[in-house]
Amino acid sequence: MSTIALSYKAVKLMKLCDIEGFQSLDDLLLVVALKDSACPAICITEGCDHTANMEPDQDQGFCEACGGNTVVSVLVLAGLI
Ligand SMILES: [Zn+2]
Repeated sequence: MSTIALSYKAVKLMKLCDIEGFQSLDDLLLVVALKDSACPAICITEGCDHTANMEPDQDQGFCEACGGNTVVSVLVLAGLI
């Protein structure tokens, strides 16, 4: 993974926080850690910011907006899984 990919992930993480209504990634991760079922996920395709609730370890969920298997859970994006 290059630095470019990492910062791209960071952009997607910030976007997901924004869409979910959290001030910071820490707040979002805390809420996710407290519930053990579905977890917020975002499509990593450029230009597509579709969000969904997925399994915490999901890294290739189906995106209903662009049709790709590109929806990644916040925990995977943040590198916690
Ligand atoms: Zn998509």
